[in-house]
Amino acid sequence: MQVNSNISFQDTATAFAHKTDKDLGRARLLFRSFDYPILLKWGPALAKIAVSLGFKFVIKDTIFKQFCGGENINDCVTAIDGLSHSGIGTILDYSVEGEESEAVFKHTAAEIKKTIDMAKGNADIPFAVFKVTGIIDSHVLEKKSANTQLSPSEEILWDNGSKRFFDICEHAKHSNVRLFIDAEESWIQEAIDRLAEDAINQFNTEKAIIYNTVQLYRHDRLAYLKKQIAETSAFLGFKLVRGAYMEKERARAAEKGYQDPIQPNKASTDNDYDAAVTVCLENHDKVSVCIGTHNENSSMLGVQLLEKQNLQPNDKKVYFSQLLGMSDHISFNLSHSKYNVAKYVPYGPVTAVIPYLTRRAQENSSVAGQMGRELALIDSEITRRKNAK
Ligand SMILES: Cc1cc2nc3c(=O)[nH]c(=O)nc-3n(C[C@H](O)[C@H](O)[C@H](O)COP(=O)(O)OP(=O)(O)OC[C@H]3O[C@@H](n4cnc5c(N)ncnc54)[C@H](O)[C@@H]3O)c2cc1C
Repeated sequence: MQVNSNISFQDTATAFAHKTDKDLGRARLLFRSFDYPILLKWGPALAKIAVSLGFKFVIKDTIFKQFCGGENINDCVTAIDGLSHSGIGTILDYSVEGEESEAVFKHTAAEIKKTIDMAKGNADIPFAVFKVTGIIDSHVLEKKSANTQLSPSEEILWDNGSKRFFDICEHAKHSNVRLFIDAEESWIQEAIDRLAEDAINQFNTEKAIIYNTVQLYRHDRLAYLKKQIAETSAFLGFKLVRGAYMEKERARAAEKGYQDPIQPNKASTDNDYDAAVTVCLENHDKVSVCIGTHNENSSMLGVQLLEKQNLQPNDKKVYFSQLLGMSDHISFNLSHSKYNVAKYVPYGPVTAVIPYLTRRAQENSSVAGQMGRELALIDSEITRRKNAK
């Protein structure tokens, strides 16, 4: 796509300049493997067995290497330095999913604070991020979202969890590190929004430190975004995403018989996403925005709107963001043209990040209708390099 005279997302030479021929060959093999339904179905179970039998390196040298920064925060230094070399920032994402207990929540909160410490004063790490379900019991969040009375033991869980939440936000404020609060399922999002709004009012007094996330695959979120902009006096920060839980949302709404919170089709999601990008940039004085997407048109819209508003590509209130190992054609070409880009760099023990890796495999399979783009770009760069020799 060649919309802007300076940027082409088809420029694979820039997109993959950081990859050796060997890296590209390995990535090609990996993306091709996602098209085998049998591997997609049994991959997660096989991965766990492989790790338990001492074959962790099989996962670590393949899918883990493509999408994760390492098993712990210090391992991520190589990924941070590699991205920084191309002018791209890192957002350290502690991606452990699984057990919900107070001990695990405490440990996760401490780890999130470590990512803030690592980002403090470090231009290579422009944001920190966390998921509220990593530190607060999801059943309690669900009850809070539905305004259901909590039992005394649930009240304690809520008090402990919300203390952890504000402690993390306060730590970000004192460290001067911008902090994303990820968006999650609609039935717990109400409670997450209330926490995020309170934190925004408390900590965004001089500039946007706390960013809430808006999922535009929900048909009510553009209105939510506009209302927040109209009614909040503090500075606002938003990460805009389409949303990751569509099938789960639709299935639950159908099962429980309430209105589907998701847009009727992809075009409506795209329209609202692009409208949200426009609204945020039109309110640039008050709103900082992270355009979190792998969609070329929405990314290009961000570029065009920056121009239209007479803002510099590297305006500090506007970022583009993609996940590590995905859409390098967007990240590296934007960064090459001096736009602010940061990649989510997930990390955690191999077995604990298997659910995250499974989602990456699924969304890059032909089952998800995505097959082709990453692979086609890799193929085209391999061919370009062969022809250039
Ligand atoms: C930096 C970053 C941070 C993210 N943070 C979050 C987060 O906090 N919370 C979260 O939920 N997700 C998050 N995501 C994931 C994101 O929500 C999307 O799932 C993913 O990025 C794919 O959407 P896209 O905009 O990249 O591109 P596209 O490939 O253009 O869009 C795919 C998306 O469109 C929507 N869609 C597809 N089909 C339909 C349909 N039939 N009807 C309606 N909508 C449809 C779905 O949301 C789907 O994921 C994040 C992604 C990035 C890159």
